[in-house]
Amino acid sequence: MRYADIIIDNSVSDLDRTFQYVIPEELADWIAPGVRVTVPFGPKSIKGMVIGLSDEPAVDPDRLRAVKAVSDRDLAMDGQLLELAKWMADYYGCTLNQALKTVQFSKKKVATGRARKKQAVPKQSGRPPVVLNGEQRAAFEKILNAWPKPALLYGVTGSGKTEVYMELIEEMRRRGRQTILLIPEISLTYQNLVRFYDRFGERVACVNSRLSEGERYEAFERAKQGEIDVMIGPRSALFTPFARLGLILIDEEHDTAYHSDTAPRYDAGTVALKRAELAGAGVVFGSATPSLGTYRNALRGDYTLAVMRGRAKKDAHLPAVTIVDLRKELKEGNKSIFSRTLREAMEDRLARREQVMLFLNRRGYAGFVSCRSCGRVIRCPHCDVSLTAHRNGRLVCHYCGYSVPMPDRCPVCGSPYIAGFGLGTQKVESAVAKQFPGARVLRMDADTTTAKDAHAKLLAAFAAGEADVLIGTQMIVKGHDFPNVTLVGILAAELSLYADDFRAAERTFQLLTQAAGRAGRADKPGSVIIQTYDPENTAIVTAAAQDYERFYAEESANRRLLAYPPEGEMMAVLVRDAAEEKALAEAERLAAAARALHKGVTVIGPSPAGVAKVKDQFRVVFYVKSGRRSDLTEIREQLEKERDLLLQIDIL
Ligand code: ADP
Ligand code: ZN
Ligand code: ZN
Repeated sequence: MRYADIIIDNSVSDLDRTFQYVIPEELADWIAPGVRVTVPFGPKSIKGMVIGLSDEPAVDPDRLRAVKAVSDRDLAMDGQLLELAKWMADYYGCTLNQALKTVQFSKKKVATGRARKKQAVPKQSGRPPVVLNGEQRAAFEKILNAWPKPALLYGVTGSGKTEVYMELIEEMRRRGRQTILLIPEISLTYQNLVRFYDRFGERVACVNSRLSEGERYEAFERAKQGEIDVMIGPRSALFTPFARLGLILIDEEHDTAYHSDTAPRYDAGTVALKRAELAGAGVVFGSATPSLGTYRNALRGDYTLAVMRGRAKKDAHLPAVTIVDLRKELKEGNKSIFSRTLREAMEDRLARREQVMLFLNRRGYAGFVSCRSCGRVIRCPHCDVSLTAHRNGRLVCHYCGYSVPMPDRCPVCGSPYIAGFGLGTQKVESAVAKQFPGARVLRMDADTTTAKDAHAKLLAAFAAGEADVLIGTQMIVKGHDFPNVTLVGILAAELSLYADDFRAAERTFQLLTQAAGRAGRADKPGSVIIQTYDPENTAIVTAAAQDYERFYAEESANRRLLAYPPEGEMMAVLVRDAAEEKALAEAERLAAAARALHKGVTVIGPSPAGVAKVKDQFRVVFYVKSGRRSDLTEIREQLEKERDLLLQIDIL
């Protein structure tokens, strides 16, 4: 006799356990992990999914009931994806139901009639495929020769990574294998997709968050039926049910969009490695600014490292970068947001009818306090992150809780010109209007992109030359290719350095490099002007020099010093409650429990979280650091058992 472990349909139940049933003779051939079945449950019949099989009953077999029927045979879950879900539940400490919901594609079929409606496909442009240059070919061969070993494709902006991806996809097709290409949602533009439709026509499909459930179902169904070879999409495309997956490509692998912020709080890169392992497939991480962890794995030899140092297009070169010291501008009486260098460069480009991008770096902006005379920012003496100004007049560290009263003079140089930073994109827009009255301006930020497709429309308008200047936040730096942009101005380079996050320098380096990479992508030479109060900062200097290796060396040394990831393992534990004292007391209690559980770990905090209150819930956080991930997993399991209040635990 065989037995099946069955999880009750997760849309009707939050039960996170399996129930064992007897497999009747006549269904034996049909039952396998991932298959949906109908089973008796109490007085009713209900649907469930087979999770595992065994020859031994877990309890007295007389008490077990039998599976009634196999249902929705075409909706059976791919066995490897089921394995992946189990692994995710374990690795990320979520319930199996949460993991299954993430991994399985929508069960909604499209209503008949609509079902055959093909997805709107970009028209093919008829451009012939490009021939790989020497660097591209070398990278392609290196990755392929080591396949399915994971690889890092580190190529400067404009080095032609996309062409290498397409060549790899083509090779997989020759071998009868399929490819998933992950792209941050925001870069899923018409401009980027058309290159794939040109090359692969009907054999490519794309998913994004704007698709209805039915459309998503159809795309995944086509993948399952073998009608396509390539699926392009954001991190959820990772779960495309390809039968013979050969490769997972992760473009802009450093992008934070690859981290899910709902349970299971997974990292797409990590899950991709697991899925690839199960499928015997390769993974390629692509970036001009790889995350420290990925680059470290490549240096260690865990990944193949393929490097491309030059721009792919003939006559396209990396832009010339100038750093402007804003402290000097202030000293010399220029109080405008444009340095003289930037203003002159803008006048020049506008006169030549070339385009300008102005980037205001506000990522993770967290109310730090800085000095306009010496450029210093007030930091925590214990954690090396910026202190955040609170309304009660104190400066607080969101890692350890250290706090000091807001000083009225700069503690370094004594200048009274210290304050929070107040520049927003609208202010930039009016400054441009005032100083360059003839210029046509587009602004792209959270306010101007709320409408559906607003983001794509703004980019298309700029690409079509309907504006001379594009002003924006980090939204404008991602992977766009505007041949007529010859000047990129970065208005306050250091803003993101002062986010209260240990990854702030890394994010800053990435943003500046990517922003600078927008200039000079075609035959016209590009220049970049970086304005900053902190011109000697490593992240800024190395981004200006496009020197990733040096940034990596210095930043990983810093991380090692404080045992921050990837040089150590770190876990954030967030406690929430409507009553602040209660959240704090619970966090204190759990922090003490974590300390008691493992002598080797360091516990930092608790303190109010970076965003201290959300929807009337107070948030208190503490951090646990250790050399070993297993210590953290153990502590996580223990804390989950002991908790009284809402809790969120993330291994960072
Ligand atoms: P990346 O993704 O590395 O930033 P892209 O793949 O977008 O770079 O390529 C940048 C530009 O160079 C694109 O316009 C692309 O068409 C062009 N390009 C890429 N490879 C070649 C090549 N071998 N010959 C000519 N142009 C190329
Ligand atoms: Zn100062
Ligand atoms: Zn601190």
